[in-house]
Amino acid sequence: MIIVMKPGVSKEKIEIFKERLEKRGLMVHVDFGDNYCILGLIGDTRAIDPEQIQAYEEVEKVMIVQEPYKKANRLFHPEDSIININGRTIGGGKLAVIAGPCSVESEDQIVSIAEDVKEAGAGFLRGGAFKPRTSPYSFQGMELEGLELLKIAREKTGLPIVTELMGTKMLERFVEDVDVIQVGARNMQNFELLKELGKTNKPILLKRGLCATIEEWLMSAEYIMAGGNENVILCERGIRTYETYTRNTLDLSAIPAIKKQSHLPVIVDPSHAAGMWWMVEPLSKAAVAVGADGLIIEVHNDPANAKCDGQQSIKPNKFKSLMDSLKEIEKFKWSFNVDKLGI
Ligand code: PEP
Ligand code: MN
Repeated sequence: MIIVMKPGVSKEKIEIFKERLEKRGLMVHVDFGDNYCILGLIGDTRAIDPEQIQAYEEVEKVMIVQEPYKKANRLFHPEDSIININGRTIGGGKLAVIAGPCSVESEDQIVSIAEDVKEAGAGFLRGGAFKPRTSPYSFQGMELEGLELLKIAREKTGLPIVTELMGTKMLERFVEDVDVIQVGARNMQNFELLKELGKTNKPILLKRGLCATIEEWLMSAEYIMAGGNENVILCERGIRTYETYTRNTLDLSAIPAIKKQSHLPVIVDPSHAAGMWWMVEPLSKAAVAVGADGLIIEVHNDPANAKCDGQQSIKPNKFKSLMDSLKEIEKFKWSFNVDKLGI
């Protein structure tokens, strides 16, 4: 952090200001120019609030040099993180695919889709039991009954289950029953929830917020990691832009950006990004090519009658052909290499 002092502030006042910062455990480098005095703060500036520093009348400007996230930062953890989930992994080179319906609707539905996606090569089963719907009148999910059905599907197929937790009320139950806890886009900045998840050691799939910047998204990961839980997987699921043709705009540039900034694995959700089933294939291929560690894809055996997101769900046979074609794309996959990029 760099602090530019206002012109004309006396040396005595600058000395007092410097001592105040040093008492907070920082080394302060003072540079007197012709007009301005500049203080360079060295050390762990995490607890220093730039807005609070800006509030001092002697201060002209505060500049942040280093990213505000530390645990999620590649700078302090150059190796890619690999998240272990019941013997399976996300991150570290091998493409991880999570597939299943938007929401669990019945035992037959979830078990049959789980069997189909497993057969096609998916490594994880998704399915919403508690659904964050825009309208309170829309189907809200089968809730705890849905969770039980997911467990049956896991038992029958061996696929670990990924499902969304919407608040802290069900946390203990999710820790007990679920393999990967999904934090939905609408909850990316539910800091109470993130803090509670930080106290567990469950893998967390953290979706990017509807309008979140990459830095805000990484700060949400930091909330979970700051509590001690470093098992975070990021998920780009499209952000809201001025474009209305698609449900959201898939930000593919977020993948290389995350790879440069963070060691955490990042996967892509082409289903919620596009909102149209026929775009799932091209966007999945693009996501793999640009370096995503995996995909989360909505698959439904009867999309026309799905209780949620049928329009963006692909059928199992389409999923199978997509999985086969991804093997070809993987050969050309971009991967982050600091030495090659020279950044
Ligand atoms: C979902 O995965 O079903 C979902 C609701 O996703 P998002 O939070 O990205 O909208
Ligand atoms: Mn959905």
